[in-house]
Amino acid sequence: MSSKPEIQPCEHETRDRIITGFVVGLPFVLAIVFGIRAWGQSLNFLNLGLFVVGYVLTCLGVTMGFHRLFTHRSFKCGRTMKITLAILGSMAVEGPLISWVSDHRRHHAHSDQPGDPHSPHVDHGEGLAGTLTGLWHAHMGWLFMHDQRGAHDRYAPDLLADPDLVFISRTFLLWAVLGLLIPFGIGLAVAGSIGAGLSCLLWAGVVRVGALNQSTFAVNSLGHTFGRQSYNTRDHSTNFLPVALLALGEGWHNNHHAFPTSARHGLDRGQVDVTAGVISACAKVGIVWDVVTISEERKATKRL
Ligand SMILES: [Zn+2]
Ligand SMILES: [Zn+2]
Repeated sequence: MSSKPEIQPCEHETRDRIITGFVVGLPFVLAIVFGIRAWGQSLNFLNLGLFVVGYVLTCLGVTMGFHRLFTHRSFKCGRTMKITLAILGSMAVEGPLISWVSDHRRHHAHSDQPGDPHSPHVDHGEGLAGTLTGLWHAHMGWLFMHDQRGAHDRYAPDLLADPDLVFISRTFLLWAVLGLLIPFGIGLAVAGSIGAGLSCLLWAGVVRVGALNQSTFAVNSLGHTFGRQSYNTRDHSTNFLPVALLALGEGWHNNHHAFPTSARHGLDRGQVDVTAGVISACAKVGIVWDVVTISEERKATKRL
């Protein structure tokens, strides 16, 4: 790392906090309002199918793209794949790519120490109140704070040097909105009414964003609190099956902190890692390559 400043300044903090509150709160409100007696009215197989497809694709945008490719360089790919993953990850509405990567690299640089943007274990007090405060901070509270965000030119100079990624990161809002308009358009085209389009927008757009956000936020909160440690990482990262299932493999978070560049987070027997399976399948057909794997000898050096 360079001697450049650590912290990314925030120009419009109040505006940023309002938008964050809107993005994380609206899916809950709409899911509750429309979820009551929704089947047959706004919820049906088309909406559910689009929800699942949209969830998996945008989750892979985050897990395979933002995280394993852009943050940790755990495999290589061509320009089309790179752009596709950057756009799908942006459609998850977790902030612009370069901010996401900078914050996450800073998380690894200071994991569960002062300077970690979202540790549940730093400065949250003792006892049950401290644990709950820490969990809230790591899950969503940190999204409203800007005093520990990774400076882009320090933490993501490689991304800033890539015009494709700078463009997609700057036009984040466009991709976020497109991720909502696509299900609306499919609903309109398939069912032939504005109402059908709007219900697809609701379930496969807004609620899909909310569900996916909660799954990936849980990696930072539950994945540093509940579950087990298999490897010595000198932080509180854990392996936690429910998060691994919901976040397509990211819940094997202790393994990930032990070997951050590994394309596979589910390193041990029985640890399902859907994202790693997709990367392997892409490698088999030649659209990704130089996939980073961890030998049994390396694993043994850190095994607890
Ligand atoms: Zn972590
Ligand atoms: Zn990571």
